[in-house]
Amino acid sequence: ELAERFCHRAILQPLAEGKDELEGKHANTQIPKVIGAAKLYDITGKEAYRNTALFFWEQVVYQRSYAIGGNSIGEHFGAEGSEELGVTTAETCNTYNMLKLTGYLFRWFHEARFMDYYENALYNHILASQDPDSGMKTYFVSTQPGHFKVYCSPEDSFWCCTGTGMENPARYTQNIYHL
Ligand SMILES: [Zn+2]
Repeated sequence: ELAERFCHRAILQPLAEGKDELEGKHANTQIPKVIGAAKLYDITGKEAYRNTALFFWEQVVYQRSYAIGGNSIGEHFGAEGSEELGVTTAETCNTYNMLKLTGYLFRWFHEARFMDYYENALYNHILASQDPDSGMKTYFVSTQPGHFKVYCSPEDSFWCCTGTGMENPARYTQNIYHL
């Protein structure tokens, strides 16, 4: 009951009704709210929570993601179906969180499309978010043609994506097997 009182209805209610009002919203603030809704489906069995998670996942993956499985530009969702290329695209935390959400959806529906996304995003965004030489992590992954990767540094930059980036290698084994 307490968890349900914490639900951010301004975000979750439209999603439960199949309405995409994500344009202009800060992307990675919303993904954990939907992970919370997924957890609430597991606890309460209320269909609205599962519908919320599925609709959000489909909109983000099919309408708001780049080829590597990442989403967002300047940390925000753009217009539906038209994510622009740029330097500040595909915040790495977002994909870390989308993989968490994908784990719920695959467990509920057992459809290959969920693990297809998981594999694509894990290999092309998450595995590629760490500098093999220094171990440093990406924040944004640029989709600007000819641009380069920017990694955090040991002492002068510590981002949200540095923290989730440290968790990522420990999560590589999650979702490689399902019953
Ligand atoms: Zn981040």
